[in-house]
Amino acid sequence: MRKELLKKIKRVVIKIGSSIITDEKNVIDDKFLRELANQIKELMQKKGLEFIIVSSGAVASGMMVLKIKEKPKRLTEKQALAACGQGYLIHKYSEIFLDKGLYVAQILLTSDDISDRKRYLNAKNTLETLLEKKIIPVVNENDTIATSEIKLGDNDNLSAEVASLTEADLLIILSDVDGFYDKDPTNFNDAKVIEVVASPEKYLKKASSKSGSKVGTGGIFTKLQAARKANLVGIPVVLAKGKRERVIIDIVKGLNIGTLFLPKTVKISHKKYFLAFNIKPKGKIYVDDGARDAIVKRGKSLLPSGVYKVTGSFRTGDVVEILAKDGSAIARGLTNYSLIEVEKIKGKRSSDIEKILGYRYDDEIIHRNNMVVLSEVMGNR
Ligand code: ADP
Repeated sequence: MRKELLKKIKRVVIKIGSSIITDEKNVIDDKFLRELANQIKELMQKKGLEFIIVSSGAVASGMMVLKIKEKPKRLTEKQALAACGQGYLIHKYSEIFLDKGLYVAQILLTSDDISDRKRYLNAKNTLETLLEKKIIPVVNENDTIATSEIKLGDNDNLSAEVASLTEADLLIILSDVDGFYDKDPTNFNDAKVIEVVASPEKYLKKASSKSGSKVGTGGIFTKLQAARKANLVGIPVVLAKGKRERVIIDIVKGLNIGTLFLPKTVKISHKKYFLAFNIKPKGKIYVDDGARDAIVKRGKSLLPSGVYKVTGSFRTGDVVEILAKDGSAIARGLTNYSLIEVEKIKGKRSSDIEKILGYRYDDEIIHRNNMVVLSEVMGNR
C-alpha cells in the first residue's frame, strides 16, 4: 500500500525534531546532518525530488554557543537564546550541505505570516522560487518576535503548515521514536508501533479524555495534530526515527518504516484549510437551532433569518465564526456583510435585505462555498 501511495511523490517536507538534531552531549549532531544531506542529495539527483526542511534546534544551539546548561524558563530568555542559536544552526546546515554541493536558505515564519493572505502568498512564492533553483529551504519559527499570541507553538504544526502551503506530496516527521505507539513508550514496555493510522482524530480525542492519558504526552500530541492537518489536505505523513540509517530513502521507497498517517480520500480545499486553521476570526455570529442544523446537517449557507446576535468588528470579506446558541463554534466563513449590516438584517428574510440596507450583495451572509464546518475538519482542535 505504501509503495502505491508514495509512487508519484515529488515534493517532500522533512521535520527535524530537537530530540535528534543534537547528540548525547547536547551539541549539534554533525554526523546526523551529514547523513541527512547525503540522503537528500541522492534523492534529488536520482529521483528529482524537492526538499524543504523544518528544523528545530535553535534554543539548543544557543545554549551550546553561550555555554548555558539549564534551559531558561522566561520567554524572553528563550527568545534570546533562539536568536543566538538560529544563526549557528543555519551556519551548520549551510556548511555541511555545501560540503555535499547543496545550497540551503533560511526561512523564518510566524503564524501571522501564514494567516495574512498576502504574506502567505509571499512566503509561498519565495519557497517555490528556492525550490525551482534547487535550493533547500530550512524553515523555523521566528522565535525572536513570536510571542505566545502569534506563536504557532511548535515545529510539528509548522511543518504541516509548510507542507500545506507548498502543496507537498509527503511530510516526514523525524523524531527519537520508531513511530507512533499504541501507548506512551517511555512508560509502557509493551507499547507497540502502529504501522498505519487512518484517523489521528481518534487518538487526539482519546488523549483529551481522562482514560486516554495512556496514549502519550507532550510532543506526540503536536505530531498527531500535524498529521491530521496534513492528512486533511491530502498529504500522507510518516513519523519515524531520525537516526535510523537511510531513513528518508527507505521511506520514499515505500518500505514499512515508522507510522504512516493516511491522507483523507476526500480532502478539503486549501481555502477551507486556511479558514479552519490559519485565520483568527474577526467576529462572531450567533445562530438559532434551525440555522445550526441547516449548516451542520444539511450543508446550507448562512442566511440572515437564522442570526440573532453578532459581536466583534468585521467588514465584508473578513473571516467570522458562526456559533450555536450554547456558544459552541460550528463553522467559519468569509462574510458578505459587515458587522453593521448584519446588525440590521439579522432575523430578517433575505428578500428584505435590499429594503433594509438600500442595496443587496447576496442572499446569504456567508455562502456555503466560503464556509468550513468545524466538526468536519477538527475532530478535536
Ligand atoms: P521532537 O523533539 O523530535 O519533536 P518530542 O520529544 O517532542 O520529539 O516528542 C517525541 C516523544 O514523544 C518521544 O520521545 C516519546 O517519548 C513521546 N511519546 C509519548 N507518547 C508517545 C506515543 N504514543 N508514541 C510515540 N512517542 C510518544
